[in-house]
Amino acid sequence: MIELDGATGEGGGQILRTALTLSMITGQPFRITNIRAKRPKPGLMRQHLVAVQAAAAVCNGNVGGAAVGAQTLEFVPGKIQGGQYDFAIGSAGSCTLVLQTLLPALLYAEQASLVRVSGGTHNPMAPPLHFLQRAYGRVLAQMGASIELELHRFGFYPAGGGVVSASVQPCARLRSIELMSRGERVGGFAESFVAGIPFDVAKRELDCVGRSMGWEESQLLPRGLPGEQGPGNALLLTMEYEHVTEVFAGFGEKMVRAETVAKNTVQELRQYVSSGAAVAEHLADQIMLPFALAGAGRFTTNRISQHALTNAAVIERFLPVAITFEDGGEHQICSIAAKA
Ligand code: AMP
Repeated sequence: MIELDGATGEGGGQILRTALTLSMITGQPFRITNIRAKRPKPGLMRQHLVAVQAAAAVCNGNVGGAAVGAQTLEFVPGKIQGGQYDFAIGSAGSCTLVLQTLLPALLYAEQASLVRVSGGTHNPMAPPLHFLQRAYGRVLAQMGASIELELHRFGFYPAGGGVVSASVQPCARLRSIELMSRGERVGGFAESFVAGIPFDVAKRELDCVGRSMGWEESQLLPRGLPGEQGPGNALLLTMEYEHVTEVFAGFGEKMVRAETVAKNTVQELRQYVSSGAAVAEHLADQIMLPFALAGAGRFTTNRISQHALTNAAVIERFLPVAITFEDGGEHQICSIAAKA
């Protein structure tokens, strides 16, 4: 039984999610204490509980201690089984984080899968569905995986109610790849989604992005959604390159000006663009797991976050790989290699 302390490093939900994914794939049971100890409301929230239940359902596993608020649990995996699954978070908890727990594991099933998850689709502190489709999904496709992600309805915090689905084909041998450079720029565009709040918010965010990036009208896409999908606003900046696609997200909040949302998101994008790195901070912490499953890989990133360092340590507990980080001047280099 692998013993994990959820308070180490970043101390968030990712320790649990990575453990679930790798436990399903490797067949190793684990016990985790101090779940999400460094978060304002520690323990399992709805979203994490659904990730645990979904993982158990997908691999016919056994769970001890899973309940909202629980800070310790044990997970004993069975065999991963493809098929049709439907999971409801029942709050605005992130659908994408639940999906991300399951997707790599479903590649190891013998059958294809169709998974539907309802909850939040565009939440602060989680990958928006468009990020999974365009950024994370593209990397997995380069590694040989065939995953189709669909957004059926937006879900924003706090109302939730969004619906996403993933269709996954088995691919038990991911190809190892290197993402050392992003390659030539192919395109860039901004979308502002608004539901149940004034359309003007989208216009103001996009005006601000257009001015700071020097982008033309055709690259600025306001998207009005049906009011009942709100209230909510997400600003997404997508950068497409020869080898990689990145998506930067900002979320409208009460008392925060549309221009501030736009400026903060542009700033995040600029830090990435000027670094010359292949991937930005969030994609970096998320692709380490599939890279480690492939047995090897390397990439450059503009920032090694606490999330990345913590995730690397959890991955090394389950897989026979060493994950190292080195300073490459303008950017950082992450290398994943089989343990000697
Ligand atoms: P945790 O805070 O431990 O629950 O983990 C959150 C996960 O969401 C990490 O993998 C983050 O990289 C990811 N994440 C947070 N914000 C974004 C964002 N704007 N775009 C993409 N991924 C994100």
